[in-house]
Amino acid sequence: MTAAQSVETLHIPEGLNYECTGCGKCCGGWSVPLTEQDYFRIADIDWGKQSPERYFGKSLFREMRDYESESTPYTHAIMEGADGHCPFLVDKLCFIHAKFDSKTKPSICQLFPYSFNRTPSGTYATISFYSMGAVNNSGRALVEQRDYLESKFAEFNQLYPDHQPNWSQIQLTTGISMTWDQYLTHEEKLISYIKDRSVSLENRFLNGSNYLARIMQEARGSAVAPAVASTDGAANLNWLDKNLLTALHKIYFPIDKLGRGEGDFNFYRFLYQTGFQGLFPGTKIRVPGKSYSFETLERMPFPSTDPDIEDLIYRYFYSRIFGKHYFGAGFGQLSLITGFNHLAIIFGLIKLQSKAIAKLRNAEVVSYLDVAAAVRQLEKRLGETSLDGMAAATFEALMTSNRRVARVLAHS
Ligand code: SF4
Repeated sequence: MTAAQSVETLHIPEGLNYECTGCGKCCGGWSVPLTEQDYFRIADIDWGKQSPERYFGKSLFREMRDYESESTPYTHAIMEGADGHCPFLVDKLCFIHAKFDSKTKPSICQLFPYSFNRTPSGTYATISFYSMGAVNNSGRALVEQRDYLESKFAEFNQLYPDHQPNWSQIQLTTGISMTWDQYLTHEEKLISYIKDRSVSLENRFLNGSNYLARIMQEARGSAVAPAVASTDGAANLNWLDKNLLTALHKIYFPIDKLGRGEGDFNFYRFLYQTGFQGLFPGTKIRVPGKSYSFETLERMPFPSTDPDIEDLIYRYFYSRIFGKHYFGAGFGQLSLITGFNHLAIIFGLIKLQSKAIAKLRNAEVVSYLDVAAAVRQLEKRLGETSLDGMAAATFEALMTSNRRVARVLAHS
């Protein structure tokens, strides 16, 4: 597929399955956003009459704050219940759906977990790994559900008629632009590295990062720097690696409810944190009630070769790359190199977070469920996080190096 081909082509990822498992977990942990149409449709219903014991006299909706709705089609949100779940989740089922129909639900719920990303070579479908069905690869292959996905895509076009991501400014790295066809060639290569089961997961990401470093050197016309052959020989994490990981961990795995701007990568906060490293040494990974040093977590092995864990990590990152949710208009207008290296560093964060979760329950071995919990939380936060220009520039400055990728993957 090239950029010249139809933009209406719907591409569906191979090897990903999905069916709803009815666990109800997708309907918790977030304030469901509503378009203006959603809001008028749902808030107009007298919910107190539909179920007095549940809803009478209760505030169910709120207006979104400016910073929440900026660059989104949403104006309002459903307020989370005291238990952290959507108040319309009743006995693991959607009360709106049960009382009316699926079309009455919020747009985002009608489409969930499918996402569609329009690009110059067509629209790429993926699924959100916040869904347990996606995490567990439940049900039939997406490629066998083409008719259903096409119908969801038609709904998506109706619900979000203004979705036109701007892919006109894509860059290999800062200052080196790239055509869409060049991008597609690189993507094919990156996916082949990530798929290569003959090497460890860590080295698959490193091979992708090395490939892009080589392309960058060639594009600049400078001598090609030697690749970091394997994570085995990588140097230890330095203070900047640790500060970067700590800063990213805080926004992707927050302990407390995030206030205004706290969920986004803030350049000034990062500068403050790294600047005071000398005064407050010993950056740590924090989870509720505990914090662990990088050294403590490194001593705990990550079961990368467990077939279920390996498969989950592969599918998750393949889905992000296939869906183009990691660079350019797909994530913070990052360059391809920074976008890919950010994914590799995120894999390091998943390892650290899974180990911290295991330790929190006094286990010495990371389980599949620890990794699944880390992936789900990360997926949710990546969808909520935005990068302003300064934050994106900081990402570019800190995540271009394949050596940093090697150190993070070797010592996480
Ligand atoms: S509105 Fe329904 S589908 Fe959407 S989060 Fe609430 S319970 Fe779930």
